[in-house]
Amino acid sequence: MLILVVNCGSSSAKYTLFDVKKEQSLCRGIVERIGVSRSFLIHEAQGKKVLRENVVCPNHYKAIEIIRDVLVHPDKGVLSDVSEVKGVGHRVVHGGEEFHESVVITGDVIKSIEKFSELAPLHNPPSLEGIKGCMKIFGGVPQIAVFDTAFHHSMEEHVFCYGIPYEFYQKHGIRKYGFHGTSHRYVAYKAAEILNKPLNKLKLITVHLGNGCSIAAVLNGKSVDTSMGLTPLEGLLMGTRSGDLDPAVVTYLMQREKLGIEEVNNLLNKKSGLLGVSGVSNDMRDILKAIEEGDTRAKLAYDIFVYRIKKYIGAYAAVLGGADAVIFTAGIGENVPGIKEEIEKDLFPLFGGGTKFLIIGTNEELLIAKDTYDLVKKTI
Ligand code: ADP
Repeated sequence: MLILVVNCGSSSAKYTLFDVKKEQSLCRGIVERIGVSRSFLIHEAQGKKVLRENVVCPNHYKAIEIIRDVLVHPDKGVLSDVSEVKGVGHRVVHGGEEFHESVVITGDVIKSIEKFSELAPLHNPPSLEGIKGCMKIFGGVPQIAVFDTAFHHSMEEHVFCYGIPYEFYQKHGIRKYGFHGTSHRYVAYKAAEILNKPLNKLKLITVHLGNGCSIAAVLNGKSVDTSMGLTPLEGLLMGTRSGDLDPAVVTYLMQREKLGIEEVNNLLNKKSGLLGVSGVSNDMRDILKAIEEGDTRAKLAYDIFVYRIKKYIGAYAAVLGGADAVIFTAGIGENVPGIKEEIEKDLFPLFGGGTKFLIIGTNEELLIAKDTYDLVKKTI
C-alpha cells in the first residue's frame, strides 16, 4: 500500500512516498521557499537522478499541487495515477492535551489543530494548509495527523506542571507538552529490537540531537519526562535556541536592551544556542571545524551542549531508577559519535557497564507512514 507522508514547515513542504509493507521509500523531496521569491523543488526518486527545479509557489496549497504533479509526471514521477496513494500522513507539531495518538483527520480534528495554533503559531498553520490542500488534491483518501506532542501525553501532572499559579494552566494551557515525540518513539521501538527485549520492560533515555534537540525518559514504552516544554525552547542547548535559562534573564534582557516581546522571542529562538554562544554557526559541522582551528567560543558552545546532555541523562536516570540504554539520534546524534563516547565515559561511574549507549538512525517519516497505514486499514 502506498502512503504519502507530508511535513509542512513555515516555508517548506517535505514529502516521502512509502511502500509501507516493504518499509521502502519510493521517492522523497521538498518544496522550499514557499511564499517568498525563488521557490524550488528538490525531488529524488529511486534509481533516477536528483532533480532541482525552480517553481512558482506562493502558498502551501500550491506546494501540494507541485508535489502531486511531480509524483504522477511520466518521466520524473513514480505513479501512473494519483489514486495509487491510499492515505496521507501529516506531521503536526502541536496536538495540545487532546491527542495522545495519531488520528484520522475530521472536521473536529481540524478545529482542534486550529485551536492549538495559539501554542504553535509557526508550526500548526502551515500543517493545516497542507492538510486542507491534500484533502482536495488527493481525492478523498484518508488523511492522518501524527502529532509531535502525542508521545509525551503520558507524562504525569507533577512532571508537566510549571511552578506558576495553577490558574494559568487551566486558563491558557501553560504546561510542558514536549516535542520530537515521533522520533523518540521510533528510536525507543528500534532500541527494543536491538536489545531483543520487549519495549514494555525497558528503561530508556532517548537523545534527539538535530537542529532542535530534546531528550526523553521512556519507561516501558511510555514517555515519562522530556526536556522541551510549552514550546520547543526549553531544555538542551540547540542550534539557535538557548534551552534552559533563568526566566529572569528574559525580563532583564528586555529591560537592559530595550527589547520588545517579538525581539526577545527571536533572540532566544533564532540567535542563541550554538550560534549565539560561538558567534560562528548553528551547524555542528562548522562548530567542530572552528574548534579544530582553535576557536575558543566554538569550544565553549560545544562544551555547554555536551554538559547539558550529560546533566539531563543523569536526571532521567534518577527519574527512571537507572537505564537499560541511552540512545543518540538525529543529525548530530548520528554523525558525531564523539559526543556519545565522551558522555558514556563520563557517566561510567553512574551506570557501571549495565547501560548500553547506542546510536540509532531516526526515521520519523516511516513511523508516520506506519501509523497512517494502520489507521487507513481500519477505514477500509
Ligand atoms: P533537523 O532538526 O532539521 O531535522 P537534523 O537532524 O538534520 O536536523 O540535524 C542537523 C544537525 O546535524 C546540524 O547541526 C548539522 O551540523 C548536524 N550534522 C549533520 N551531519 C553531520 C555530520 N556529518 N557531522 C556533524 N554534524 C552533522
